[in-house]
Amino acid sequence: MHVDTLIIGAGPGGLACAKILAEKGVEVLVLERKAGIGAKVCAGGITWGGLISRVPETLAERSFCRQYIQTPLQRIYIEEENPIIATVNRKKLGTLMAAQAKDAGATIRTAALVRQINAHSVTVQDRQSKQVEEISFRYLVGADGSSSLVRKHLGLPNEKLGLGINYSIPGTAEKMEWHLNNKLFANGYAWIFPHAETISIGAYAPRQSISSKRLKNSLLLWAEKQGYSLAREQARAESINFDFRGYHFANTFLVGDAAGLASGLTGEGIYPAIISGEEVAKTIINPKHSRDVMDALIKRHAKHSKTVQLTAKSGLLNTILTELMTLSLRSGILKFEKLEMAV
Ligand SMILES: Cc1cc2nc3c(=O)[nH]c(=O)nc-3n(C[C@H](O)[C@H](O)[C@H](O)COP(=O)(O)OP(=O)(O)OC[C@H]3O[C@@H](n4cnc5c(N)ncnc54)[C@H](O)[C@@H]3O)c2cc1C
Repeated sequence: MHVDTLIIGAGPGGLACAKILAEKGVEVLVLERKAGIGAKVCAGGITWGGLISRVPETLAERSFCRQYIQTPLQRIYIEEENPIIATVNRKKLGTLMAAQAKDAGATIRTAALVRQINAHSVTVQDRQSKQVEEISFRYLVGADGSSSLVRKHLGLPNEKLGLGINYSIPGTAEKMEWHLNNKLFANGYAWIFPHAETISIGAYAPRQSISSKRLKNSLLLWAEKQGYSLAREQARAESINFDFRGYHFANTFLVGDAAGLASGLTGEGIYPAIISGEEVAKTIINPKHSRDVMDALIKRHAKHSKTVQLTAKSGLLNTILTELMTLSLRSGILKFEKLEMAV
């Protein structure tokens, strides 16, 4: 079988890319190894300003004009007129994006595991029938997440990784909270993100700064103090790749986590995945498409990465910078949007 554009991975990056390509009449096939679309270890936080034009408001489970931030020395909240962040259910987001891509004309195959990548073809196995097939392409898009096979095929290293640990527990909570504490989470943080009928409680930190075991133990201890006993709940953890090394390599493109475009500072990756997916599609349609949007995203990403490098240098420095940042947010000198990936 031959297709014009083959996309590996039906996450937000791959689906955003597929929709734009199909809308322009490009023959596009998306291969997804999972049996269903959308389910993903994630806190489901989307920045309102960045994503609400792409995600219908009805998909937001909860939205928050106030963000509570706690450090060892300060407990503050910042408030804006419009919601700052909303929470979404990843399965619902995936289902919607897949329907949009299919309506536009894209073909999506689930339970299709790409096992090998060659210069102009891939080997894919149907996980139900076990049948193996060779599919050739003109363009290949690696939208296959943080442990991307396409990225490996390109020979790119994966040195800058973050770890996100998430517990999704039944219940409701009123406040969206961020807790920064170097002793517990190094230069990462813990969160409480309320959804409609569940609460996402978790922690994120760059892997270079803290071991996964320590991050998890700190999260459990901290959560207990917040009134959440997580010891018997199911923890789900995944890496978040922020090692960006380019996204366009001859006839092969990388988007989202595969490209290392998630924020190393916050682990925010849905927005960069959607934007890079869309921009890659536009570049395939028109090779002269302007790089402006991607350049702005890459610039913001680089700023976040620099902050990670700086705060990873010493616990004392991280503590001082965290307190200063919180103070600046409190006084309005620093806007919360500077911590977002949306530009
Ligand atoms: C604990 C945690 C919390 C997070 N919270 C947030 C948050 O609140 N907000 C936010 O913006 N981001 C968050 N993120 C990050 C966010 O989930 C990712 O950045 C985002 O999903 C990246 O989208 P993507 O399309 O690039 O990749 P993914 O969503 O990872 O999609 C990749 C897809 O490729 C498929 N795939 C992989 N390999 C193959 C293969 N060989 N063959 C076929 N298919 C394959 C996978 O099954 C998957 O469906 C969080 C991450 C974690 C771990």
